Amino acid sequence: MGQPHDPLVHFRYARPPISHWRKAPCKEVECDGYKYGWITAVPVGSDLEDLVRHHKTARFWKEERRDGGLVCFWFSPGQTCFNAHKSDHYVPNGAPPLYIRKTDGDSKVIEHERWEDELHHGLDRVEKIYQRGG
Ligand SMILES: [Zn+2]
Repeated sequence: MGQPHDPLVHFRYARPPISHWRKAPCKEVECDGYKYGWITAVPVGSDLEDLVRHHKTARFWKEERRDGGLVCFWFSPGQTCFNAHKSDHYVPNGAPPLYIRKTDGDSKVIEHERWEDELHHGLDRVEKIYQRGG
């Protein structure tokens, strides 16, 4: 005598990067480069040196040649850093999260209210099963 099939249900919410985040400037995310400035050291005469000199976002620096064939670029605070494309330069865009219910491998985005109701209903059932000893 088996129990009727009781599907495993997962509830989660998500903020996918493509629809729920936007790129934000260094000033807004207060990245370390913007707040404190930074030093970029590259080999003299290299493509990297060229890249630093002509990077569209870098504006003000002092430079210093070092032993070992390095040139150090000292960037003062308040400038757009070289990491502005990385994930720490994104912020939530204010879109409400997606509420997702997954049953037997089938994921569906459902309304928030319904998601909460179904989640609470599921938790009540789990609690009853737990109280009667499995
Ligand atoms: Zn930055």
